[in-house]
Amino acid sequence: MAIRKIVIHPAEILEKACKAVVSFDKKLARILDDMYDTMIEFDGVGLAAPQIGLDARIAIVDIEDEHGTIEMINPRVIETSGEQTDPEGCLSFPGLYGEVTRPNYVKIRAFDRKGREYTFEAEGFLARAVQHEIDHLDGILFTTKVSRYLEDEELKGVESE
Ligand SMILES: [Zn+2]
Repeated sequence: MAIRKIVIHPAEILEKACKAVVSFDKKLARILDDMYDTMIEFDGVGLAAPQIGLDARIAIVDIEDEHGTIEMINPRVIETSGEQTDPEGCLSFPGLYGEVTRPNYVKIRAFDRKGREYTFEAEGFLARAVQHEIDHLDGILFTTKVSRYLEDEELKGVESE
């Protein structure tokens, strides 16, 4: 396992739709393990493959709750509902935080590292993190959804994804 370098905006890889994963092999497992180490090292709650320079539909989320680390390969959103507005940050935009409105509930389908398809539902902050990471795989950055940027004194406890 290894800590990878985070791609900081602006970078072409951050603004393009990533390619689907076709091989659920050791290389994929290594990428996921490295993404986990990198997310922890940089104190994030999620990380998408383009953020470490990889053109692949792979993302992880871990908000340190009972769900543990959610590994999403080729994820797709199949249902959303409700609305939430809260501060959001991104490891590819160090020090930048803004309020983003997203659905409060999300249901996704994705594959795990062994290629098994699963369905996952999330609400609140976890739903926010899941949607932030899936957006990355389509080249959509949170800055395109920010309604208001936050000042330093408003930033207590905001985590990056
Ligand atoms: Zn991000």
